Amino acid sequence: MLGAPGSGKGSVATRIATRLALRHLSTGDLLREAVSNGTEYGGRAELYMNEGALVPDEIILEIIHEELEEHGYGDWILDGFPRTLHQAEILTDLLERNGAQIDGVFLIDVTEDTIIQRLSSRRVCPACNAVYNMQKEEFRPRKDGICDRCGSNLIKRADDEKETIHNRLVIYEKQTIPVIEYYRERGVLEMVSGGNGAEDVVAGVLRFAT
Ligand code: AMP
Repeated sequence: MLGAPGSGKGSVATRIATRLALRHLSTGDLLREAVSNGTEYGGRAELYMNEGALVPDEIILEIIHEELEEHGYGDWILDGFPRTLHQAEILTDLLERNGAQIDGVFLIDVTEDTIIQRLSSRRVCPACNAVYNMQKEEFRPRKDGICDRCGSNLIKRADDEKETIHNRLVIYEKQTIPVIEYYRERGVLEMVSGGNGAEDVVAGVLRFAT
């Protein structure tokens, strides 16, 4: 899944993983978990994440490598990876060497206004990764500040502060747009409109994927 920060990649990928029985690999979730577990790479990654910058490729590629080695190379949905051209090229190489391939790349298309609105009103559960939007009735938690799913206290992600959102969008333009072009040139890219929420995107992706 490709898309700008706030495009809904995580929510869509989670739902598609369930519907198609795929393993969901979110580099953002794995990094946040490493940060909260206080691991060595979590400590290094946190500095970049809090600034809205990308974590260095070598850390990301180590995570990906470990996950694929542990769980095998088939039946994944990748969310938040690849985010740089270098990551995309390494992924192609890694898959080729292991007899695997990418079946589809889906780009969630949303306007910048929607992105800023979503990110600034987003709250997340640090325990189970559930996502809420405080400005939308249907995406608010039932009890203020408490996760519906697991009862933990909700937080605002450090990288959802206003200045950091701006940095993330600039970085997306510079580093991730080339990834979109990379897959477009290879004929595997599909665009799905993301303005109407996650279920609509899921339906769009499933039309291509099944
Ligand atoms: P996300 O949850 O996908 O929005 O990711 C949150 C943050 O984790 C990003 O702003 C980056 O700092 C970092 N991150 C996640 N995935 C990657 C990646 N593939 N490459 C570099 N940094 C990443």
